[in-house]
Amino acid sequence: MKVFEENNGNIFKILSEAISEGIVIVNEHQEIVTSNDAADKMFGYKTEELLGENLSILIPREYRNTHPQQVDKFLEKSDPRQMGHGRDLYGQRKDGSVFPVEAGLNPFKISGSQFVMALVTDISVRKNQELEIIELNSHLEQKIEERTKELNENIKILKDEVTKRKQAENKMKESLRKERELNDLKTKFLSLVSHEFKTPLSGILTSATLAGKYTETEQQDKREKHLKTIQSKVKYLNNILNDFLSIERLESGKTNYKFDVVPLSKVVNEVIYNSNMLLKDGQKINYPSNIDDISINFDEKILELSLTNLINNAIKYSPEYTIIDVIVTPRKDAVEIKIEDQGMGIPKNEQKFIFNRYFRAANALLDQGTGIGLNIVKSHLENLGGTIKFESVEGKGSTFTISFPTKNNLEYNENNTSY
Ligand code: ADP
Repeated sequence: MKVFEENNGNIFKILSEAISEGIVIVNEHQEIVTSNDAADKMFGYKTEELLGENLSILIPREYRNTHPQQVDKFLEKSDPRQMGHGRDLYGQRKDGSVFPVEAGLNPFKISGSQFVMALVTDISVRKNQELEIIELNSHLEQKIEERTKELNENIKILKDEVTKRKQAENKMKESLRKERELNDLKTKFLSLVSHEFKTPLSGILTSATLAGKYTETEQQDKREKHLKTIQSKVKYLNNILNDFLSIERLESGKTNYKFDVVPLSKVVNEVIYNSNMLLKDGQKINYPSNIDDISINFDEKILELSLTNLINNAIKYSPEYTIIDVIVTPRKDAVEIKIEDQGMGIPKNEQKFIFNRYFRAANALLDQGTGIGLNIVKSHLENLGGTIKFESVEGKGSTFTISFPTKNNLEYNENNTSY
């Protein structure tokens, strides 16, 4: 220690006081041989108070054990280096308080004695700043996390809102579409009525006028002929009106199907009876022979509408002196009815359009018609689990086949055994 002070004290003092880092020099026994002002202040000692003390006085208790070995190892290698190697280093003040430091060790020899100069920097401020930055960062991360969560929630709310609006928009579009179709239908109806009703109405007027002219008792058969014409034309007009009402109900979703257990013969009889009024000269409908025992559980009105349309078409699109066959085939839980005519048939290239609403084949245009009958029959039957198909050869005839389930509502069936 003496050697160091005597030979180097002055130079050391001059140099060390100019440096802002703390300088502590220890001998090979790790006794402090000198320290500069910055080091004394840093560790809270008065000038020269540290002289002769062991270096461990400046090291917190928990680090003291490992420290001497570190210094020994360091002296073995004896080259200048930074202490710590990534670990945090701490110094201890006189009052026992601990603070973070950075220390660089510089070994040197004077007169054969080994010394180590430690350059110590108080890095409390830097550490605090680091801590603050870490804390700020974690705050920031937390904030970002919160904001992201909020954003995600808002996005979800927005998405829900968009979905709801889309649904509302679709609903509106759908009801607009329906309204437009109903309006179209009304327009079509008005134009059809003006065309389709004109001829039968003037026919009715003519027949009524003529019937009025036959005043003699023996002219009863002539009166009857005109009354029959009137009846058939009224029936025809009534059928058109029924078809239109049916479409209107189908379109506006107001169709209410009603299942009843009825004998099939009741419906077939009624339809054929009414259709007979429309028969042309020499036309004949062959009544099905085997239907007396068949009971169905089906919507009677729909079956009536379907058969009426098919049989009236067979009459309308067939010439005089032809036969129309009505053939019933009971199937398992279903009934199949064929209407076979020997009429004009449907041109092959138009067959695929035949169930389209308002479609009428080219060869049918001279006959009166609206093109809606087959379309509504198909819609109703399919709604009720039934089917309709046809085969037709132009110039030879057509066969329309409908099939419908007969056990639609079993509960109802059991409770209504009166049939
Ligand atoms: P409409 O008979 O009032 O024109 P439908 O929907 O009943 O309307 O029939 C559509 C079209 O299908 C008819 O215009 C006609 O061209 C064709 N059609 C339907 N039934 C027959 C049939 N039995 N024979 C020939 N053509 C038919």
